[in-house]
Amino acid sequence: MAVAFKILGTGAGPGIPSYYCDCISCNEARENPCLARTRSGAVVNTGKETVLIDASADMRAQLVREDIRHVDVVFISHWHYDHFGGLGDLEYYVRLYRKEKIKLFLPPDALEEFEAAYPFLLDVFDIALWQFGEKYTFGECDLIPLPANHSRQTAGFVLEAKQRLAYFTDTAGLPEETAARIRGIDYLICDATFYKDNWYPHSHQSVAQAIQLGQDLNAQSTILTHMAMHYSEPVTVAQLTEQLQAYSSAVLAYDGMVITL
Ligand SMILES: [Zn+2]
Ligand SMILES: [Zn+2]
Ligand SMILES: [Zn+2]
Repeated sequence: MAVAFKILGTGAGPGIPSYYCDCISCNEARENPCLARTRSGAVVNTGKETVLIDASADMRAQLVREDIRHVDVVFISHWHYDHFGGLGDLEYYVRLYRKEKIKLFLPPDALEEFEAAYPFLLDVFDIALWQFGEKYTFGECDLIPLPANHSRQTAGFVLEAKQRLAYFTDTAGLPEETAARIRGIDYLICDATFYKDNWYPHSHQSVAQAIQLGQDLNAQSTILTHMAMHYSEPVTVAQLTEQLQAYSSAVLAYDGMVITL
């Protein structure tokens, strides 16, 4: 069975539409809910296990939407609320239905904060700390956390099956060792938080920087995610899609997008 990578959420921290916002991006998503962007995360169906990458604050709604009924393993890329805020929703599944702990791989720098925030989840998870460069094998697929450039310790994940995919939701460019590891990759899914000016050039990327990163790495396909759509300048999906036609290898991610490896 092929390995399937599904992008559960493609939005930055506030999601699109943002409940407080009346911009063209948010109103476009209100009028056409398939353009909404829940907070960022992904799921890997390895043919054997279901592996979640991040438990976004929208995780419960994402699992319902995609009819995902089992979660076996969770990797948290970094300890920011938009990436871990859904963890509490796994408690009911484990206690009432699964009756077996879920393996949870945390960022090494986040263990104390996890324990302080979620003392009631300590017996729900079998907790481990992921390590950069370590290879975690699930079915026919290897998953490898590699360093990203973000405001705290953050992993992107490389998936190696018949094809290779790199998923870097929150990053500003990549450290050289990471770039060397993924050069020529089949799919680069990366941070494109800002449409125009990048307010956080050491933590995130703009659309133009994401496209440039894909070109620099010679990625076969660059898929833009973690999109705020309205930071610095609002833009609609319709406008962005038209602008991206100038780049044959760059496309917008959308919630529910599947890549088969
Ligand atoms: Zn908005
Ligand atoms: Zn972050
Ligand atoms: Zn984020």
